[in-house]
Amino acid sequence: MDIIIIGAGPTGLMLSNQLTRFGVDHLILDQKSGPTDQSRALVVHARSLEIYDQLGLSEQVLVEGQKNDGINFYKNGKIAASVTLVGADEKSSPFPYLMMYEQSKNERLLYNNLLAQNREVQWNTSITTIDKKGDCYILSGMHGEKEISLACKYLVACDGGKSMVREYSGVPFTGGSYLNVFFVADTHVDGFSSDKLSIFLRKDGLNMLFAMKNKNHFRALGILPEQYYHQPDLPFEEILEKMKTGMQMPLKFYDTNWHSIYRLHHKKVTAFSKDNLFFAGDAAHVHSPAGGQGMNTGLQDAYNLGWKLALVQKGKAGRKLLDTYHEERNPVAKDLLNTTDRIFSAMSTEGFWYAVFRMYFIPLFVPFITSFKFVRKQVFLLLSQIGVNYKKSSLAKGKAGNVKAGMRLPYFQVAQNKTSISVYQLLKEHGAETFAVLTYQVENEQFNTMPKTVFKVIPVEVNNENDKAFKEAELPPSFVIVVRPDNYISYISATADLRELNDFMRSAYFLN
Ligand SMILES: Cc1cc2nc3c(=O)[nH]c(=O)nc-3n(C[C@H](O)[C@H](O)[C@H](O)COP(=O)(O)OP(=O)(O)OC[C@H]3O[C@@H](n4cnc5c(N)ncnc54)[C@H](O)[C@@H]3O)c2cc1C
Repeated sequence: MDIIIIGAGPTGLMLSNQLTRFGVDHLILDQKSGPTDQSRALVVHARSLEIYDQLGLSEQVLVEGQKNDGINFYKNGKIAASVTLVGADEKSSPFPYLMMYEQSKNERLLYNNLLAQNREVQWNTSITTIDKKGDCYILSGMHGEKEISLACKYLVACDGGKSMVREYSGVPFTGGSYLNVFFVADTHVDGFSSDKLSIFLRKDGLNMLFAMKNKNHFRALGILPEQYYHQPDLPFEEILEKMKTGMQMPLKFYDTNWHSIYRLHHKKVTAFSKDNLFFAGDAAHVHSPAGGQGMNTGLQDAYNLGWKLALVQKGKAGRKLLDTYHEERNPVAKDLLNTTDRIFSAMSTEGFWYAVFRMYFIPLFVPFITSFKFVRKQVFLLLSQIGVNYKKSSLAKGKAGNVKAGMRLPYFQVAQNKTSISVYQLLKEHGAETFAVLTYQVENEQFNTMPKTVFKVIPVEVNNENDKAFKEAELPPSFVIVVRPDNYISYISATADLRELNDFMRSAYFLN
């Protein structure tokens, strides 16, 4: 097998779905016996929903998930500040909200989609040693009771925060750890209801409650009091009782499904790849749960790597394309670690100034700052990962109007054949395997010479509605946009210069 994915958590399952989307054969294995039952990560952000949409899975998430429209901050048992994010930027994405959809459901969704396409995950398979012979990775381990040995050319480590592949590779995992220990519980609450994320501010830290789909079902999070650090049998009901006292609310916790405690780290690999070995998801970066970014970033890593591996494996691009995986995802992880660390430290560290920040600054200034639509939009772009861009990537060239190569293709409606459809839908209908070339008000005949195995030219109908839509999207009156399979812009120009376009694509993607 040419490609092996170790780990079928959300990251590995997404990568497997992407490779399947491109018809690329691979093996995915996991030591577990099936998708996780633990809810773990909770939020699916807009950019991840867009990927699910491309895979035809977003509708199920909308039915099974719970829309969350913002954050309430509580102080001394009362709402002290409220931020509404729904509608903050309804024009940026078809999914302008936070969607509560647990990790267990994500894994099940992605796994079922593989099954529907006749692809199985090799469960109960644990890899214990890795060796490299020439260009080949030799993996040894157990499948149930049976010893196994596997070989591959490309190895993808989606094996989580304690990645054994990372250990084997010797690639450093650098950063730091937080002093506090945190608890998380999947529980039920009587006497409290909210469709928003609820943050309970305290002088010595904070507690959080996330509403889940079913009535009274919540995820509770907080800092574990130090007296429990070394207690083997954690009296969890007692800890929730303490949380309740700190929240100063007459509520009742009951039916706790599961709980866990963990120490948090902020660390990342110094390189996202080494030879033909790639790290994705928690194997590449771990950080605090601030903003619910962990699972989403893993999904995005897999999305970025998937189409590149597929094009190289199919001989449509040169091997060097795979080096852009580190080039594009490393800065994203670096920024993410910095942002989540700053937010998380401000929210959880003990000390006078941190207490002032939580108890006075947030209640006073957060409602004021977020009363501006512009600020709410920026918060949404950051949280949803829609704002992630690869403008500095070697795969990006050009600018037209205010739209630059390396940006995610802006979301807008296109009036085509007397119907109005979203540009993402338009791209989806034209298939996944090629670069889409969107053209508007330029001479189209010249594009007919482009190789159809690599490029799909989509002339957009010239009409008043489209003129208006593109103006709103800050595009110029005419344009040529080359869109990657992950809906990022690779090349953009206000004029049609086929030679420039071809030269760039050939050299950037090492096309033959
Ligand atoms: C209790 C808990 C609560 C969390 N809450 C949140 C949250 O609220 N928000 C958030 O964003 N994130 C949260 N996270 C983090 C989130 O779960 C991770 O970011 C996410 O799971 C990363 O996905 P992944 O696929 O990269 O790794 P994982 O989900 O860890 O998957 C790795 C997979 O690799 C398999 N594996 C490992 N080693 C081997 C091996 N040697 N051989 C074969 N298989 C192997 C494992 O069995 C596992 O299935 C939480 C994590 C925990 C533990």
